[in-house]
Amino acid sequence: MTDHDTARRDRLARVRARMGELGVDALLLSHGADLPWLTGYRAMPLERLTLLVLPREGEAVLIVPALEAPRVPDTAGMITVRPWAETEDPVALAAALLAPARHATYGVSDRAWAQSLLALQSSLPGAHWQPASKVTSPLRAVKDAGEIAALRAAAHAADRVAAVLQEGEIPLAGRSEIQVSEALGAGLLAAGHRRVNFAIVGSGPNGASPHHDAGARVIGEGDTVVCDFGGEYALHDDVGYCSDITRTVAAGEPGAEVRDTYAVLLAAQQAAVDAVRPGVTAAHVDAVARAVITEAGLGQYFIHRTGHGIGIEEHEDPYLVAGNETPLVVGHAFSIEPGIYFPGRFGMRLEDIVVVGEQGAVPLNTVDHSLVVVA
Ligand code: ZN
Ligand code: ZN
Ligand code: ZN
Repeated sequence: MTDHDTARRDRLARVRARMGELGVDALLLSHGADLPWLTGYRAMPLERLTLLVLPREGEAVLIVPALEAPRVPDTAGMITVRPWAETEDPVALAAALLAPARHATYGVSDRAWAQSLLALQSSLPGAHWQPASKVTSPLRAVKDAGEIAALRAAAHAADRVAAVLQEGEIPLAGRSEIQVSEALGAGLLAAGHRRVNFAIVGSGPNGASPHHDAGARVIGEGDTVVCDFGGEYALHDDVGYCSDITRTVAAGEPGAEVRDTYAVLLAAQQAAVDAVRPGVTAAHVDAVARAVITEAGLGQYFIHRTGHGIGIEEHEDPYLVAGNETPLVVGHAFSIEPGIYFPGRFGMRLEDIVVVGEQGAVPLNTVDHSLVVVA
């Protein structure tokens, strides 16, 4: 057994214990991060059904299209693989495995196709249905040592790309956002990422749209440029974990207003990082960042939550948002990414991934946090 197998057996035991606590009789895991987290297998988002039927007790069976079966990694006996041929009915296979008891409760992947869920529901009448995340999310949110190592490697790779950007090796002024976005994406791959998830480049007024899609706009002299990029990074050929970093740079000397606003942003981000420790709530960290920006009179321009958990998925629990009273615990991993956005003018965001340690936040991204002016 490898370390991965040991970690996955441990996860499976914790999942089953939580199924018992919540009265879930079986998990039905299809697309999304639960399946790779438990088994190391990430299903392609095909219309063909992939479904891990995981009863609280007894054999776990992965129903998988026969043509996908060669991609399923060896799980050292943890699950049984049941390939289905093109002419078989995979939903009937699942229903037979569940030998449906009326009033059984099933937890289905949040990211399963609606068509799969609807077919399962009509094959299993009288059952109760819940999102699988009720069982898995709080467990997935707390990373083990192997996961933290993968997140750290991903963050370091993203940091290298950010450093290249800050050193001016990706020219900005006179080039389109798309050209810069392509350079950032190529940088992520060169730094070892398996795939690029996104490379947002929002220049000048476009930076005021937090998820601006890089476009044809040509970056002007003195523009602020919000660069938010990340991808999937795998250690030892295992399941990939996500990187996600934002640095705002200036394409030439910015004006005083940009510098003053950036000073507020930097203070807010650092205050939020400093506020992280075991026992404080996710909402508290959001409130700390927001207070700094609000005290500077800019609260109305900070239009999103302060951060999101990160792991196999780019966005997962815990979310740093007002109302989320989840206490932080050692091993939680999330972004801290306040932003300030002036519609029609400019915007800025500063984002690091951190892990909660005994003494507080352990930042995984450490590349320069200042407003770097790229010549
Ligand atoms: Zn985002
Ligand atoms: Zn981001
Ligand atoms: Zn993010």
